[in-house]
Amino acid sequence: MVLSELYFDYNATHPYTTAVIAAFSDMAKFYANPSSAYALGRASRNIIEETRELLASKLGVSHRELLFCSGATEANHLALLGLAQNLDCSKPRLILHSPIEHPSVLGAIKILREKGFRTLAIPVDQHGCPDSNFIVDHIKETALVSCMAVNNETGLVLPYAEIAAICQENQIPFHCDCVQAFGKIDLTGFLPRYDGLSASFSGHKLGAGKGLGVLYCAKNYRIKPLWQGGEQESSRRAGTENLWGIISLRAVLQELDSFFSAQQKQIRGLRDSFENALLRHLPFVRINAQTCSRIDNTSSVCFSGFDGESIFVQLDLRGISVSMGSACSSGAVEPSAVLLAMGQRPSEARSTLRFSFGVFNTEAEIELLVNALCEIIGQLKVSQSRRKRNIVLESRELS
Ligand code: PMP
Repeated sequence: MVLSELYFDYNATHPYTTAVIAAFSDMAKFYANPSSAYALGRASRNIIEETRELLASKLGVSHRELLFCSGATEANHLALLGLAQNLDCSKPRLILHSPIEHPSVLGAIKILREKGFRTLAIPVDQHGCPDSNFIVDHIKETALVSCMAVNNETGLVLPYAEIAAICQENQIPFHCDCVQAFGKIDLTGFLPRYDGLSASFSGHKLGAGKGLGVLYCAKNYRIKPLWQGGEQESSRRAGTENLWGIISLRAVLQELDSFFSAQQKQIRGLRDSFENALLRHLPFVRINAQTCSRIDNTSSVCFSGFDGESIFVQLDLRGISVSMGSACSSGAVEPSAVLLAMGQRPSEARSTLRFSFGVFNTEAEIELLVNALCEIIGQLKVSQSRRKRNIVLESRELS
């Protein structure tokens, strides 16, 4: 198998840093079950609690409010289904959500709909930004609101703090998927301000091992566990913790401030170079949510008139990794639900690719990427005009 040399898919997952690779060797020492009472088990337990405290300090919350699980997909389900199990049935049962949520949130909401909850998608503008007034108008009948902080496909920063304030004022629980926000925007002070809030995080988006999620639940966001059979995570999430993931998360967190925030400016520079060069060479492209508040590393580009999958395949053949829509739906032919929710036509959504940059990218790599895109579009133009000519010739022969 040829490993991709040029990686521009940091929103799908973050490559391992030197610190994380070094931490992998630590894992051999911590094989004992963290629930075992003997010294070896206590050593494993200590790592978990140390990591929980480190993360709590970065988020400005209490370590008691954080629980580890198998990924943000599970964290989102636990937040939404776990809360719904606790809801008072005599009270309103409407759930409001943004239509551009990650499939793991939309999937949990679908389950709740099947259980009898009424759900409503908050209308969004052409950039995907939800209308907060809609929430205000429906808040009296609402039992729960779910809205992500940052969209994984376009990088749009949603008005999560404003929505949290509306929910807090009306004492309605609010779940915020913070997977693409943590490490990319300043979340300091956001979580501790609201006592009815939950938030989900994913270890591998930060460079930790895959299969580790974190759910934050403030004191008034009360969940029931989804399954039984163990008292781990204060009896809120049964099952042996992913110690490997947690050890790697500790390594990430230990250098989080110096690593991520210092690099954001550099990453933004790369993203801007990419977009400027692309618009210069291929002026027909459109960048989604370009004029909005966006995270620094993401560029969602619509190559109008060209099939995104063909560009994706040609990039892949050159060892260049990017994403068609969100990584979780890569491989599926369906156009991105996020772009459709923003009012785009299926053909536009099918012409869109996501480029997400990170700390290991360089200006030289951006140049290679832009050159490859120009070459591919040139080739696709030639084959498009050849196809058109053949159609004309065939129709002449027929007539
Ligand atoms: N939410 C968002 C916004 C994401 O981008 C992802 C990962 N694609 C998830 C949730 C799911 O995270 P995980 O891979 O940890 O299950």
